[in-house]
Amino acid sequence: MTDTTATQAAPAQGTDHLLQTQDVTVTYDLTHEALHKTSLSFDAGQVTALIGPSGCGKSTFLRCLNLMNREIPRCVVGGQILYHGHDINTPKENLFELRKSIGMVFQQPTPFRKSIRENILFAPKKHGRIHSKDEADELVETSLKQAALWDEVKDKLKQSAHALSGGQQQRLCIARTLAMKPDVVLYDEPCSALDPISTFSIEETIRSIAESGICEIIVTHNMEQATRVSDRTAFFYVGDMVETGTTQQIFSAPRDQRLVDYLTGRFG
Ligand code: ADP
Repeated sequence: MTDTTATQAAPAQGTDHLLQTQDVTVTYDLTHEALHKTSLSFDAGQVTALIGPSGCGKSTFLRCLNLMNREIPRCVVGGQILYHGHDINTPKENLFELRKSIGMVFQQPTPFRKSIRENILFAPKKHGRIHSKDEADELVETSLKQAALWDEVKDKLKQSAHALSGGQQQRLCIARTLAMKPDVVLYDEPCSALDPISTFSIEETIRSIAESGICEIIVTHNMEQATRVSDRTAFFYVGDMVETGTTQQIFSAPRDQRLVDYLTGRFG
């Protein structure tokens, strides 16, 4: 990460983890507690999968990590969210700065109605990071390479992003996120709108991004996907984070009966 933002420069509050939540509770409409006292930690170069039945709070938790729930009216987030040891769950946190470092990729590919090249450069330009054409060219190339899209689009960078296939659009969205040089990338069901070949390609991309040292957290309803991409897994059930561990332990030696029931298909 290259920027020195207020977020990153803050003093540590006693955690060695890149990102850590402590007793995070989320209430919608001031009464519906969707997430109860969730504590998890995340490290650089690691992929964590958030699994569990639908409606159990996985996306709600993910959105806490870059303070996206703040945009939902009457949604209250309690507890601490420590990023580089500094609690970002405070009203004074600068969201514009924070989201440079904690990027997010959504379920549906959402490229801008611009060229492939301009999709990559949009945010870095807005943040004043591009000072020359050479710098722009290099950023476009490295970001697209990191998202394994360069070879497919290098000869048509000025074409509309909307002309790409769904899988390519999703990789462009990943490249666009990486162009801001984040140290955390959040994915909310990034493959649910994609065919199996595109899904495989996104999974390989997620693995190679982790190898570059970025921390990744992925919500997935697909258990095979969790085993393929993640190092660690956390299981959510009705607003509680019930069990977490290495992905190997979670899938081969689950401890909680609710996790056993989920893995054996007793509920959705
Ligand atoms: P999951 O990702 O595990 O499917 P969610 O985090 O989407 O679960 O949802 C958890 C609970 O929070 C559900 O009861 C859902 O209806 C509720 N919820 C999610 N988003 C909102 C919202 N924007 N407003 C009100 N309730 C919400």
